[in-house]
Amino acid sequence: MAINSKDYISTRGNADALDFSGVTLTGLASDGGLYVPRTWPQFTPGQIVAMRGLSYVDLAARVMAPFTAGVLTEDELGGLCKAAYGSFAHAAVTPLKQLDSQHFLLELFHGPTLAFKDVALQLLGQLFERFLTGTDKKLTIVGATSGDTGSAAIDAVAGREQIEIFMLHPHQRVSDVQRRQMTTILAPNVHNIAIQGSFDDAQAMVKRMFGDREVNGPLTLSAVNSINWARLMAQVVYYFAAALRLGAPERPIAFSVPTGNFGDVFAGYVAAQMGLPVERLIVATNVNDILHRALSKGDYSIDEVTPTAAPSMDIQISSNFERLLFDLEGRDGSTTAARMKWFEQMGKMVLSADMRKKASLFASTRADADEMALAMRWAHEACGEIIDPHSAIALHAARNAGLAAEVPIVTLATAHPAKFPDAVERATGLRPSLPRRVAQLFDREERFDVLPGDYEAVRNYVLERAVR
Ligand SMILES: *Cc1c(COP(=O)(O)O)cnc(C)c1O
Repeated sequence: MAINSKDYISTRGNADALDFSGVTLTGLASDGGLYVPRTWPQFTPGQIVAMRGLSYVDLAARVMAPFTAGVLTEDELGGLCKAAYGSFAHAAVTPLKQLDSQHFLLELFHGPTLAFKDVALQLLGQLFERFLTGTDKKLTIVGATSGDTGSAAIDAVAGREQIEIFMLHPHQRVSDVQRRQMTTILAPNVHNIAIQGSFDDAQAMVKRMFGDREVNGPLTLSAVNSINWARLMAQVVYYFAAALRLGAPERPIAFSVPTGNFGDVFAGYVAAQMGLPVERLIVATNVNDILHRALSKGDYSIDEVTPTAAPSMDIQISSNFERLLFDLEGRDGSTTAARMKWFEQMGKMVLSADMRKKASLFASTRADADEMALAMRWAHEACGEIIDPHSAIALHAARNAGLAAEVPIVTLATAHPAKFPDAVERATGLRPSLPRRVAQLFDREERFDVLPGDYEAVRNYVLERAVR
């Protein structure tokens, strides 16, 4: 059942296989692909039944152990999970709330920076520490953030001695709370860069740095974006947690997921590959709808990025989609590589009818600003819940999915509403306040540099400041 060590392979078929510690410390594979397990480990229905009643920490260790076999035991993993999830403000870590007879909210925002990114990054911080301690390795993390990854990653690694972090965010395109959660962390190993451009521009620069031998050579670059396999692995756990509470494995559950980089919803796909009965994965996008066009019409083509009230989804190139394409291509690395090269040159690709048929576990919906606001209002007026813009887009998709009434639909609530107070107030008339544990954010000093959307400028900035 467990996968073997050295059993992570690149989606482009032309990089060395790595073990779990290798994929955790690396970013992109050397052939430009993303690492995936060679096979998907599977649980039997009996093994899933035996997960009922486990605490979140014990469940996390059970679900992830097949991916770390040969490197970390279930017990060792449990110790790291305990340290990672001890910082969460809710004892259930990812509590499930019922909205009506069919709809549920899975609250993923009880971590230190108030978004679901903490679930993966708090664990990743522990894994980094575990794999670096006792070695003389130094890691340079370079990442791009559409808002929430940055703060969650910085919180997870601030002050760690063998790690230096450079975080790029699109200048003036993240919310004040999101920016301050990054820029008020003044630990000397934290470097915040505001790029004059979009998230996609920042992400393209990060990808280029991984392939730049003058940077990734003298420095050991590592990724905290969801191209890092360990992040997706940590997110698989809460699909199990929610489904178990709603009657899995006897009853299939649908999930509606606010999607940007296709990481979170891909973790749901992994859960399904592992044997969790999943009725449907609803990919919810805002007007930046490349994934909706791809899944509904086969048209995966880049369009302009439109800034919205859900900035973490203002993305037109979804890195993790390559991991799904790899499976849809029958796990053939050279075909996937050719497809991705074409896409990188032409800015578009077409998904064949056969590929779309293979992807039929996924449905998709696009929500504009009015639909998002309506969903926020429904949650508030009909269910007494204040939700954030990202979660609202997924709730809109869930309510319009056309699934039979007996299928429970879990909407992933990915951010705390107080991270986006202006949008929430516009829709509901209520201004959510920050939880007490982060309330002093606006009194703290900020530190960041603004750089032009120019690769050389960013690269030189990193080379000048990174500790070797
Ligand atoms: C990152 C993020 C998303 C999108 O998740 P992906 O894994 O990139 O698809 C959605 N909502 C919030 C609040 C986020 O921070």
